[in-house]
Formats: sequence, C-alpha cells, structure tokens
Amino acid sequence: MSEQPTIEQFTEEAHAFLSAHAEPRPPASEFVWGQGSDDVAVFDEKDREAELAEANEAKRWRGLRFDHGFGWISGPEQYGGRGLSGKYEKAYAAAEAQYLTPPMGLFTISLGMVAPTILAHGTDLAKDSYLRDLYRGDMVACQLFSEPGAGSDLASLQTKAVRDGDEWIVTGQKVWTSNAHLSQVGEIVCRTDVEMPKHRGLTAFVVDMSAPGVEIRPLRQMTGGAAFNEVFFDEVRIPDSHRLDEVNNGWNVALTTLMNERASIGAGGGGGGGVTSARRIHAMLEHFGLADDKVVVDQIAKIYSDFMVARWTNQRALDKIKAGALPGPELSTAKLSLTNNLKSYSEWIAGVLGPRICADTGEWGTYAWSKMLLGVPGMRVAGGTDEIMKNIVAERVLGLPKDPGIDSTTAFKDLRTN
Ligand SMILES: Cc1cc2nc3c(=O)[nH]c(=O)nc-3n(C[C@H](O)[C@H](O)[C@H](O)COP(=O)(O)OP(=O)(O)OC[C@H]3O[C@@H](n4cnc5c(N)ncnc54)[C@H](O)[C@@H]3O)c2cc1C
Repeated sequence: MSEQPTIEQFTEEAHAFLSAHAEPRPPASEFVWGQGSDDVAVFDEKDREAELAEANEAKRWRGLRFDHGFGWISGPEQYGGRGLSGKYEKAYAAAEAQYLTPPMGLFTISLGMVAPTILAHGTDLAKDSYLRDLYRGDMVACQLFSEPGAGSDLASLQTKAVRDGDEWIVTGQKVWTSNAHLSQVGEIVCRTDVEMPKHRGLTAFVVDMSAPGVEIRPLRQMTGGAAFNEVFFDEVRIPDSHRLDEVNNGWNVALTTLMNERASIGAGGGGGGGVTSARRIHAMLEHFGLADDKVVVDQIAKIYSDFMVARWTNQRALDKIKAGALPGPELSTAKLSLTNNLKSYSEWIAGVLGPRICADTGEWGTYAWSKMLLGVPGMRVAGGTDEIMKNIVAERVLGLPKDPGIDSTTAFKDLRTN
C-alpha cells in the first residue's frame, strides 16, 4: 500500500491538478440574470450529436482525473483505485466544485450503480476487465433491469438466459434503459430457472452492448428528448466468467444496484446546474419584481428549507455508508423527499412564471423551466416509483405487514400460467 497523504497534502495536490487543467469557477455572487447556463432540466436531454460530444468531453475529463490519481480515490488499489478513505473523496469533490469542469451525468448509473455492484458481486476476471475502464471513463455501463411486463415488480422479468457450456445465451427485451446508446456494457438480470419462485430463479451478468444480437432503439419522451432506449437481445452470448455472483442469486445482485441507485438519486440535486441555486431563484424574483412579495417568498423559503433538510439527512446516511455500513432501506426516504420537494418546487415555478413556461418567447430563464416541469414526473417513477418507495418504508422501516401481492413460494412457471 502506498503512503497515505494527509488531507491537507491531498487537497493541495487536488488544487494543483485542477488549476493546471480547468478554469476556476466564478464566485456564485457573480450570478447575473440572463447570462450563462440556462440548464434547469431535471433530465439532461440533448440531440444525439450534442450528447455524443458532451459524452466524449466527460470521458476526457474522467481519464485525466484517473491518470492523476483522482479517478477512484476510495477504490481498491488492485483495480486502479487509490485506497484512501471517503473523506478524501469529499475533499476532492469540494476542490473540484471550485472549477469549471464538464458535467458528469453520463457516469451516474455507470459508477453510482453498476461499478459498485461489479465490485461486490463480480468474479476476479469481471473486476479486472471492467473496474479500471469504468472509473477511467473509457467504458460506460447501463442498467438493463426493466421490461415491458416488469418494472415495479422487477422479479417478474422474463428475459431468459440458458447455459451452453462456458457461455449463456440471452433472449428477451429490456425497456427504459437510460444511456444504452452511450454504453459499452450493461448489467443485465435474466431468468435462469422457471421452476424456482420468481425472486430466486434470476441471474445477473455483465453484457457487451456491441455483441451480435443486441439491438438498441431510442424511445422519445414528452420533454422531446430520447434519453431512454428499448434493448432487444436475440440469442446474445455472454461468457460465464462475466456472471455476477452465483447462478440464481441475481435478485441479491439487483438489490445492491437498486440500493445504490436510490442513494444516488436521493443524494443528487435532482437536476442540471441551477435547479436549486438560491442565487438564481433570488435573481429571478428580483427580475420579475416579486422579491418583496411575502407570499411568494414564504413559499420558496419553505421549499428551499425542505431541500436542505433532505440534503443533510442524505449526507448523514451517506457518511454512514462511507464508514463501512451497507446502504439501508432508510435511504428510500431520500428519494421520496427529493421527488416531493421537486414536485412542490415545479408547482411554485409554474405559479411564478405563469404563461411564460408554456410558450418559448426567447426570454431567458423562462421557457427553459418547462423541461423541469415535464421531467419531474419521470423522477417520481425512476429507480422505484413513489408508491413502491412508500411500500418499502412501510415494510422495512416501520415494520408494517408485507404487500399481499408478494408470492415467494410458487414456481415462476406456475405464476405465469395462473
Ligand atoms: C427517468 C427514468 C429512467 C429510467 N432508467 C432505467 C434504466 O436505466 N434501467 C432500467 O432498467 N429501468 C429504468 N427505468 C424504468 C423504471 O425502473 C421503471 O419505470 C419503474 O420501476 C416503474 O415500472 P413501470 O414503468 O413498469 O411501472 P409499473 O410497475 O407498471 O407501475 C405503474 C403504476 O402502478 C403503481 N404500482 C405498481 N406496483 C405497486 C404496488 N405493489 N403498490 C402500489 N403501487 C404500485 C406504480 O407506483 C405506478 O404508479 C427508468 C425510468 C425512468 C422514469
């Protein structure tokens, strides 16, 4: 193990790297209404050409970070990490926030959900094959869970994997796969035994998205973007060495990913630069002559406080995880708080902007919010709907009786024919 720097030495090293490769971020007090980014979308949506250019820029930045020792600060050295504790990750994030660096949304699923799952459940070969490339940004991973008949009830999925010697042959369809078109690999959960109850006959793999038989088709959503895809698998071959965990233990693998997903959605601000920027809100109220309107100010003060309370609650939970505890069901409240707050916020913005949010007159800082308004419902569905989150809180946090719909004893093949 290499010698551990003090946090002061590390922070100095981070600033030396950042100042050599990025411009300092202007102080927030310099926010000027009508200038700079007007990105307040909940989901980052661009046309596919612009998206690709942004993805390449994000990959370039991750590569630079990785090569200078800031790509996977708390990861094991064996797989390209630096072997330092979570407080060094935090110190780097605080330093990087002071510079203008490319948006990193491309890696939310890849590094926030799939990479931790490969680390927890992958074979040595899978860890060697993917972790370094994922953290260096050479490779991006997507999450291939949902199917047309299996979203909230994920364990009903039907994409099947059949063993053929040292390989598996996968056939079926996934849907709502974010960033599949920008990904080189995907974490896929397949049915491998229909004789077992539905949660038990599942197996997870890492699949090569360019393998013969994989077809990716874009899905257009109401915001106008196409960040999702349907992905079809027609006898796609996956080597057994790219299996995650034991055969028929895919449900536990999926739970690791879902827990990380809910933690990272809850921990995020829920949108592009500026969605919850207090300075931007203040500048907007001044611009529209509402800064002295006590009702409007009182409403936003409450919403802003709710965002801050949720952020600190998440931080407490995330610090627990960084200290070595597993993400727990209590993190489901993080996602619920975020979506509730975004809903109140989007209603408030619609009230402030009125008709300006419905028609694009070219006025800065107005119509752009329609992307936030239209994106919030998606946020209430992604990573587990509000209703499912409430079920989880009820059952696992409050200890209430289980959802009567869950059948953990009947063989999957009998459930389907009933
Ligand atoms: C922005 C976004 C990104 C996504 N990205 C991905 C991705 O990258 N990979 C991936 O695999 N999937 C992804 N998804 C899919 C997402 O996981 C599913 O949409 C979600 O799990 C809900 O499933 P469904 O759409 O099939 O809705 P359904 O499960 O059919 O639910 C329909 C309605 O019924 C309610 N409901 C269902 N069951 C219950 C119950 N037991 N109790 C109470 N109410 C219930 C739901 O709350 C919902 O209101 C994404 C979705 C969104 C919106």
